[in-house]
Amino acid sequence: MLSEAAFNMICVTSSRSFSDGMYLIAFKTFCNSKSVKYYSAELSQKVKRGMRETRLKGLYQGGGLPYGYKVVERKVVIDETKAETVRFMYDCYSKGVTVKTMIAELTAKGILYKGKPFAPNTVYGILGNEKYSGAYTKGDEIIDNIYPQLISTDTYSKVRAKVEKNKFGKRSIKAVYLLRHKVKCGYCSRPISAETGTARNGEVKRYYKCIGRKKDNNGCIKTQIPKDFLEEFVTNAIVQSMTETQSLDNIVAEIMRRQSKDENGNLKMLANEKSRIDRALNNLVTAIENGITSNTTNKRLLDLEKQQEQLERQILIERSKTAVKLT
Ligand SMILES: [Zn+2]
Repeated sequence: MLSEAAFNMICVTSSRSFSDGMYLIAFKTFCNSKSVKYYSAELSQKVKRGMRETRLKGLYQGGGLPYGYKVVERKVVIDETKAETVRFMYDCYSKGVTVKTMIAELTAKGILYKGKPFAPNTVYGILGNEKYSGAYTKGDEIIDNIYPQLISTDTYSKVRAKVEKNKFGKRSIKAVYLLRHKVKCGYCSRPISAETGTARNGEVKRYYKCIGRKKDNNGCIKTQIPKDFLEEFVTNAIVQSMTETQSLDNIVAEIMRRQSKDENGNLKMLANEKSRIDRALNNLVTAIENGITSNTTNKRLLDLEKQQEQLERQILIERSKTAVKLT
């Protein structure tokens, strides 16, 4: 059993299958080796070296083949029909056409991906795949002899930059107000909410402002506070109070208490359920011993045994959680 599992493990580390002779050598080496870890490290080295040699020859090494390419006699070549779609995508995106519109156009033309309209993620994956430019980096190696160039380096860089920009642009619009709904005004005790303003130079300024003043017009005199200033002030105060030994001890004690309460609660419930099933099983077995047996009793017996087994498993899981508790 172990040897079979071990052999499967060897196989998956290489995409190439062993010839029979190699199988025997690999298998014997594996069985004789004192240190499995050493062996597998060595094998992995060999596989890597093999892959590197394959790369140097410019041969396809397996793995996912990007859309628009196909393999002919171990060499990657352009699959013209699909390549046309890849070029279309790069062309559209560089002209500012959205991915959504692009997909709609392709779908209308009956160009699908695995029988369905392209998913936006698939398109973004294509737009970000370095291999189309003819060269890609692996570790500190630049490999330029495997994938024929499908997109000009210039277009590729432009599109790539645009994809990156849009990706990050979306995020930067939304600022995170750490203290939103967590702070109250010291003057009128209304919540403090987010406020933005634009400076004369176009720079966006972010603040926290009392809702009493912002919306209720309750005459509160609290001025708005710059977001960064208040967040830093509060964060520092929290860190300060947490690092005081006494409160750190209290925090840890409280976490431990809550955790063990949750777990004990679960364990108790499972244990109760298990004793109920145990009792039912005992009663049933007694009944069967006394000669009461039918299809129904047999089925019930199997059901109960299954439930008992599941509960035992859950109890084990619950106990193992307790075992790795915070220390
Ligand atoms: Zn106020």
